[in-house]
Amino acid sequence: MEKLALYGGTPVREQPLPPGYKGGLLLGEEEADRTGQVIRGRAPFRYYGMEPQYSVRALENKMAGHLGVPYVLGVSSGTAALIVAMKALGIGSGDKVIIPAVTFLATAGAVVACNAVPVFADADESLNLIPEQLECVYDDEVKAVIAVHIDGVACEMDKIAAFAKKKGIRVIEDTAQSLGTTYLGRQAGTWGDIGTFSFQMQKVLSAGEGGAVATADARWFERAVRYHDQGSFRERERYGIASDDERNAFFGENYRMNELTGAVLAEQWSRLDGIIGAMRRHHRRIKSTLQRELPSLQFRKVPDPAGEGCSMLGLVWESKEKAALFIRAMAAERVKPVLKYGGMPVYMMPLIRHQRTVDPNNYPFSHPFRHPVRYEAGMCPCAEDALKRVTLIPVSPTLTDRDADTIIEAVIKVCRGLNL
Ligand SMILES: *Cc1c(COP(=O)(O)O)cnc(C)c1O
Repeated sequence: MEKLALYGGTPVREQPLPPGYKGGLLLGEEEADRTGQVIRGRAPFRYYGMEPQYSVRALENKMAGHLGVPYVLGVSSGTAALIVAMKALGIGSGDKVIIPAVTFLATAGAVVACNAVPVFADADESLNLIPEQLECVYDDEVKAVIAVHIDGVACEMDKIAAFAKKKGIRVIEDTAQSLGTTYLGRQAGTWGDIGTFSFQMQKVLSAGEGGAVATADARWFERAVRYHDQGSFRERERYGIASDDERNAFFGENYRMNELTGAVLAEQWSRLDGIIGAMRRHHRRIKSTLQRELPSLQFRKVPDPAGEGCSMLGLVWESKEKAALFIRAMAAERVKPVLKYGGMPVYMMPLIRHQRTVDPNNYPFSHPFRHPVRYEAGMCPCAEDALKRVTLIPVSPTLTDRDADTIIEAVIKVCRGLNL
């Protein structure tokens, strides 16, 4: 048997795998040309300029067509999308929002930015929240649940939507990591009241920054548009001129997407099918080969494999020690897996655990909740356990077939060499 790189043998790869960016790795002439048009037209603002290109509008139309929903609004980031979504749905002071133990800090931060507090639901070996756990953390101060689709695996949205309907609460889908993923044939981000998306560098499509909200509900859309643009709905009312529906207006902020971002993303959009197709092709070949060669290998739980976005190959180990050893041995072969969020549930981040906000009175945690929230280790035991046992290998759309072969070779070499 070939000597493991961990013990001084030759690594399977000379160079590390490409980084986990997707659309960001494929930025090219098309994006450059279209942003050039925005600059030459001197119209970087979405609503007016010298020669407006309406690129943000073009992005919104492409995205709405892809998702099969009537309303999409481009915003400045995925975090902005979450805030705009919650504001549109009327989430605010004194409310609680259920979010999963496994998510990025932004999901929790957006809840707090809306003066609500997060309540954490446990997650399993899919790394997504367990629908059956929602009942355990629900109380009558909960007004919404944010389902987060982690790394191309959709949550069981039918069950989450059924729970929310029973309780009369809202559903937001944080689809920042899973554009293009489907569940039971329906796009992630279109099952709940509002879906949110991000175009930051790590995400499926990227302009460095950017985000969007998608909804089928005209009311939520109007409230989202107004909140993201100082209370106005410019395409309905001429700027600064009171219209018939001014009774719908309220204070907003500015979370608008600019035209340079819109131009990049309108071009990136045409790469989406190619990106998802390439990741799926590699992921499925790697997975089926490994299943054949290593029949006892356990894969990340995927409720609907047909719709998987396939940006990460997830393997599940019996113990955290085995997972850690696998990671070390694979890193030596230059096919480095990761533990999601370093193996920690988001509530273990000190700023969340200690409930520290920018407010001098520490609002919203100082709100007189009837059932105050506490965050502590051991709170979501399944997530704490799964996070240390699920290893993820990035599957880039830029992999060559030879790159994909090296992933297969390295996993087989390490599993056989260490008897994992
Ligand atoms: C990236 C991400 C966000 C935040 O998106 P930004 O565009 O960086 O603000 C929110 N939620 C999840 C799950 C993410 O992965």
